[in-house]
Amino acid sequence: MLDLANRLFEAPITHQNFIAGVFNGAADGGVIQRESPAHGRLVGTYPASTRADAEAAITAARDSFDAGHWAFEYGGERARVLRDVARLIRQNAEELALVETLETSKPLDAARGEVMFAAELWDYAAGAARMLSGDSHNTLGQSMLGLVLREPIGVVGIITPWNFPLLILSERLPFALAAGCSVVVKPSEFTSGTALMLARYLKQAGLPDGVCNIIAGTGDPVGQAIIDSNDVDMVAFTGSTRVGRATIAASAGNIKKLSLELGGKSPSLVFADCDLDAAVDGVIKAATINMGECCIAGSRLLVEARIAEAFQNRLAERLEDLRMGDPLDPASRIGAIINQAQYDRISELVRDGVREGADIVCGGDPENHSGLFYPPTVLANVTPDMCVAREEIFGPVLSVMSFKTADEAIRLANDSDFGLAAYVWTNDLSTALACSRRIRAGRVWVNSALQGFPELPLGGFKQSGNGRETGRYGVEEYTELKSVHLQVGRQSERWVEGA
Ligand code: NDP
Repeated sequence: MLDLANRLFEAPITHQNFIAGVFNGAADGGVIQRESPAHGRLVGTYPASTRADAEAAITAARDSFDAGHWAFEYGGERARVLRDVARLIRQNAEELALVETLETSKPLDAARGEVMFAAELWDYAAGAARMLSGDSHNTLGQSMLGLVLREPIGVVGIITPWNFPLLILSERLPFALAAGCSVVVKPSEFTSGTALMLARYLKQAGLPDGVCNIIAGTGDPVGQAIIDSNDVDMVAFTGSTRVGRATIAASAGNIKKLSLELGGKSPSLVFADCDLDAAVDGVIKAATINMGECCIAGSRLLVEARIAEAFQNRLAERLEDLRMGDPLDPASRIGAIINQAQYDRISELVRDGVREGADIVCGGDPENHSGLFYPPTVLANVTPDMCVAREEIFGPVLSVMSFKTADEAIRLANDSDFGLAAYVWTNDLSTALACSRRIRAGRVWVNSALQGFPELPLGGFKQSGNGRETGRYGVEEYTELKSVHLQVGRQSERWVEGA
C-alpha cells in the first residue's frame, strides 16, 4: 500500500466532473488542489466548477428524469446496475480506501471498513429497488378500486461533507437511484476524489447517461446553485446546521423536499452496573472515531456519580494507548484533522471550555504540535451550560458530566439542541429500555457503539435534521405517493342533473 501511496504522491490524480455521461473539467478550467492533511503533499485535483457547470448538471438530471427511461425502468434492471456498482467498489476497494485516507487523513483500516460498508449499502439498495411497491384498497365499494402508487420524487441534489465521503454518499445515492430518481451530487471541496471515482463505476455498470451527475466545487456557487434550483425536486444535505438552515431557506423557492442530517452532540450514558471495560472502550471509540469528526460522535459523557472519578481515570489511562500518527501506519487509530480551520476551531472551543471552568484531564492543545494532529482530550467538571457541553466540536474531545439517577441522566441527555444518537451502557434491562425509549435521538446503541447496518434507518431529532436514510425508509424517502381512484364499470351517477 505504501508503494501505491508513493505513486500517488508522485502523480496526484486529476479527477473530473461527470455530467450527462461525459467526464470533463470545469467550464473555465478552474481547479481545486487537495493536499493530504497528514502529509502536506498534493494528492489530487478536482474541477472548481462554476454555476454554469452546476446548471448543466441539473439540466442533464432534469432531462433524464423527464425522459423517464430510468424512472420507469424495470426494478430488476435498476437492481442489476446497483449490484454492479457494489461489485466495482469491492474490486477497487484498496484504491478507494487509499484516496479516502490521503484526502481525509482517516486511518487506512477505517477507510477500508467504510469502503466495504459502502458496497454493502449499494447491494442493499439493489434489493430495495425490486421490493419498492405501493398499495391497493379493495374496500372502497363495488365500483371503486384504490391504488397507491409509489413514484420517484424527481431530481435529487445530494450535498455531502468531508468526514465520510464515500460512506455518506452511499447512504443516499443508491437509495435515490433505486427509487428511480435522477441525481446531482456535490461532494465536499476537500474530499471529492472517491465520489468522482464512483462516477466511473456508474458508467461501467451501465447507468444511463444523465441519471447521475457528479460535480466538484465549492459550496458557493455549486451547492448554492443546487439548493436554489427550481429544477431540483429534493435536496439531501449532510453537513453543518448553518448550511442546513440556508438550505431550508432556499427550498422555499419551489417548496422542494428536504432531507437534512446536521450537527450532533451525542451523549454516552454510563451506569455503575455496566461492564466497565467494555464501556471505557466503547466511550473512547464513540468519542474519537474519525478523530471525532463524526456527526454521531459520543462527545458528551454522562457517568453515574459514584463511579465518575474512577471511570474518568480509566479513560485517561486507556487513551494513553490510543495511537495518533500517520494514517497510513496500520497502528494508528487517530490521524490528522481535516484542515487548519477545523483544527483552530477545536483548539478554540477547548480553550473556551477551560475559561468557563472545565478541567483538562488529558490531551488539550499540544505545546509543540506538529501538523494537524490534535490529541484525544477529556474535559472534566463540565456543566450543561458550557460551550463544550452544547456545541458540536468535531474533534476528539469528550466533555464529562455526572448524574445520580436514571431520570437525571435522561434529562441531561435530552438537554441539547441536537438529537442524532445516544450510547447507553448498563446491564439493567429496565434502564436500557427506559433510556432507549425516552432519549430523543435518531439512533440509540445499547452496550455497543457505532455498528451500522443497511437495514436500519438513520437521521436526527430536533436540530440534527429531518428525514431518514437507509433501510426501506431510506428508499421511500426519495418517493412520492400518488392515489389513483379507479372506477370499476360504468359510472351511473351524474353531476349535472338530467344528463
Ligand atoms: P458545511 O455545512 O459547510 O459543508 C457541507 C457541504 O455543504 C459541503 O459540500 C459544502 O461545500 C456545502 N456547502 C457549503 N456552503 C453551501 C451553500 N451555501 N449551499 C449549498 N451547499 C453548501 O460543513 P463544513 O465542512 O464547513 O463543516 C463545518 C462544521 O459542520 C463542522 O465543524 C461540523 O460541526 C459540521 N459538520 C457536520 C457534519 C455531519 O455529518 N453532520 C459533516 C461535516 C460538518 P464545500 O465545503 O465544498 O464548500
